[in-house]
Amino acid sequence: MEGLFQAIEFEGNIDISACGSDTMKLAIDGLKGSSETFRYSIERGWWDERFADVGASGILLVGEPVIEIRARVRGENVGLKGELEGMLDAECGRCTRRYRQVLRDSFRLILAPLGDGETPADPEGVHALERSGMCLGEDLEAGWYRGPEIELGEFFVEIISLAIPVQPLCDDECPGLCPACGISRSEQKCNCEDSKPASPFAVLAALREKTEGSS
Ligand SMILES: [Zn+2]
Ligand SMILES: [Zn+2]
Repeated sequence: MEGLFQAIEFEGNIDISACGSDTMKLAIDGLKGSSETFRYSIERGWWDERFADVGASGILLVGEPVIEIRARVRGENVGLKGELEGMLDAECGRCTRRYRQVLRDSFRLILAPLGDGETPADPEGVHALERSGMCLGEDLEAGWYRGPEIELGEFFVEIISLAIPVQPLCDDECPGLCPACGISRSEQKCNCEDSKPASPFAVLAALREKTEGSS
């Protein structure tokens, strides 16, 4: 598939089309050889329906993320390149502070036409094709389409899911909370001794001392 991507390097004019998020559709039959840009905004209702578990885990949506894709055809294949850009409100797993987490990712996808006699190997692919006019291969970079139009919502869910942090951190270097007094060490300093865990050697030495003392 790598070669295919290179073969359809994007160039040419860019037309911006604004699309409501009640539809995440893309008209394949309207695409040209030169790339066009389509912008999909993710509305809160759409997000809440699909990412309720993310919200329940304390990661909240701020504003409306935008997914912008550039699409073009080359021969019968459809090439998409896109970017996700949004903002989340999350709780740091170390210092428990709430902070703004950028939601950002870029992706690309090549869709090849699936002939009338052909069906995806797995049942999930068959259903996806019926629902969305497209289904994905094993990775998220290649798939198939059938018909004049595809619905990108399910694909966007996959892309967004990958961009949501599994372990939110306000900063990679966040020092977290002091284990002794509990203050957030990124915001305040405390005078607690650094309680270093005893090394295995120290534990052994202590054991040996004890054994020797009792003999
Ligand atoms: Zn933190
Ligand atoms: Zn402390």
